[in-house]
Parts: sequence; C-alpha cells; structure tokens
Amino acid sequence: MSLAIISPGRDASVWVENFKKLDPSIDIQVYPDISSPEKVEVVTLWNHPSGILSDFPNLKLICSMGAGVDHILTDESIPSDIPITRIIDDKLTISMTNYVVMAVLNHHRQIKRYQADQLRRIWDMSNPEIPVTVGVLGVGELGGDIADKLLNLRFEVIGIGNSPKENLDYEYYFGDQIHKFLSKINILVCMLPLTPETEGILNLEFFRKCQKGTYLINVARGKHLIEEDLLTALDEGYISGAMLDVFQKEPLPVEHPFWNRNEITITPHIASVTNPGAAAPQIIENYHRVQKSQPFINQINRKRGY
Ligand code: NDP
Repeated sequence: MSLAIISPGRDASVWVENFKKLDPSIDIQVYPDISSPEKVEVVTLWNHPSGILSDFPNLKLICSMGAGVDHILTDESIPSDIPITRIIDDKLTISMTNYVVMAVLNHHRQIKRYQADQLRRIWDMSNPEIPVTVGVLGVGELGGDIADKLLNLRFEVIGIGNSPKENLDYEYYFGDQIHKFLSKINILVCMLPLTPETEGILNLEFFRKCQKGTYLINVARGKHLIEEDLLTALDEGYISGAMLDVFQKEPLPVEHPFWNRNEITITPHIASVTNPGAAAPQIIENYHRVQKSQPFINQINRKRGY
C-alpha cells in the first residue's frame, strides 16, 4: 500500500518529510515519479492533472491538501464512490479569521482614506469610523470562526448558510433569504465553498440587492465573483470597495482592470495557506483508517460538493 502526492508545481518534499515523521514505514510516491500505481490506495492532491486518478486501480481515498475540494470535484473522471477528505485545521482557521478581521477593521477605520490624507498632509478628524454590520456568506469552519471573532470585537454580525442552525450568537439566515440578509449588512464576506450552486453568485443582480456602499471581502474562490460585474457595481455605487484574495485567473493577469482600481485591494491568494506540518497528521490518520477500514475524519459530502 502506498500514498501518492500529486501537486504539480509545488514542492512536495516538505509533505514527504512531515508524513515520514509521523509514520516512517509509509511508502510514498511523488508525481510524476509514480513507479507502482497499483500500490496506491490513498492520494493527496492539489491541482492534479484531470483524469490521472484512473491510473490507480486500487484507490480507496482522496485527500485534498487544502480546505477546498473544488479542485478535485471538477475532475469528472473521479468515481462517485471514492471518499474525499479535506483539511480542517486551527492554523488555517486562525489565519483566515485574522485576514478578514484585518479587512473589516481597515474598512471600518478607513485606512485607505488616512493613507491618501497623509500623502497630501491633510489633518481631517471628521467621521473617523464607518458604522458596519458584517454579513458572512457561509458560516462553516472558517466563516463560523470569523463571525464569532467579529462578534467578540463587538461588531454587528449576520450569517447566512445552506441549512438551519441553532444556538448561534448572531442573527442567521438560510436558503432563499439572501435578499433579507443583504438588506441588513454593509460589509459582505464571501466564505463559501465553490460548488455549481455558488459559482458566479457574486454577480450584478446580487450586488444590486445590496445596500448602496456595501464593502466586499472575497476570500473564498475567484469563480464566485463575476469580475466585470464588480466593476459595474462599483460604478453604480452598490459596492464601495473590495478586498480580494482570489481571482478567476491566478496569478491575476498584469492587464487586468482590478489593478488600476483604487477601491480594490488585492492580495495574491494568501489569506490562509495550508501548513503541511499542521495538515499532515489528519492525512496520515486517514491513511491508517483505510488500513483499518474505519470512517474518515473531515470527509466531505460528495452530493453537496463540500
Ligand atoms: P465549510 O464547508 O466548513 O463551510 C461552508 C459553508 O458555506 C457552510 O456554512 C455552508 O452551509 C455554506 N454554504 C454552502 N453552499 C451554500 C449556498 N449555496 N448558500 C449559502 N451557504 C452555503 O467550508 P470552510 O469554511 O472550511 O471553507 C470555505 C471555503 O474557503 C473553501 O471551500 C475554500 O474554497 C475557501 N478557502 C480559501 C482560502 C484562501 O486562502 N483564500 C483558504 C482556505 C479556504 P451549511 O453549513 O448550512 O451547509
């Protein structure tokens, strides 16, 4: 039995090192040097070449090397009965929450305005805080922590998800209540998984349901956002500005109009990066669970797509 790492363009050696530290006996094959595909029962993936998993006749488990699984589920050749797991990890959650809290505070305390004032030596003490109500679209592992931490900072927070939830400390909507949700908030944090239902959700029709001047923070996936619609929504005033970590095409092409928009702050998909040291134990745990035929940890629901 062996574990294959398939993450083209990324350095797999740090993963090998962490896996070996946890289980020195494990047999690891790193793509593209897979000499015995028939031995591979577990694969761990990031942006694998589509169709490649059909090379492994004895595959029993697919592990994402990150929190998202959209990069796996877009490969339609993967048999529907193979379980898929993802990373849920405190370090990942803390980084994401810190990023979003930073973005909310920067907007609330208008850091761009004061940076521009400084350049022109302007001392303007008027209206130092923008009153905000933060809407978190997707209150799962990451969005749930963001909502809790913002609540601790005494922000008004409203969440929205797919299913009913109880015992939350903030107002929560689900299903088709997006209109109500958007009418109450003026910062929107997109923390959704990328699924057929959520692809392109941040479009002009959606933005026109927002309160004028809503600030957008997208840290989920680039494909949630119709990028030209954001430019229109900025021009129409529904959106006042945006902090974006993810884009339709990454790296963001140099000729992309976002680079020239002062209302948009760009970061290069770094909101929260998987730490191999923190993520390796759960992959190795699941590798051992294949050996013992036990249920997996952090398994996603193939039907829901997250
Ligand atoms: P979870 O699966 O834990 O949470 C997803 C949440 O979204 C759930 O609350 C779910 O609702 C909700 N949801 C799903 N579909 C819909 C829908 N159609 N309408 C409304 N709500 C919906 O995911 P995580 O929080 O762990 O991660 C979210 C995403 O963040 C990842 O999939 C990944 O794409 C992205 N990410 C980005 C990173 C970056 O660096 N930029 C780093 C890590 C992750 P319910 O609970 O009711 O099912």
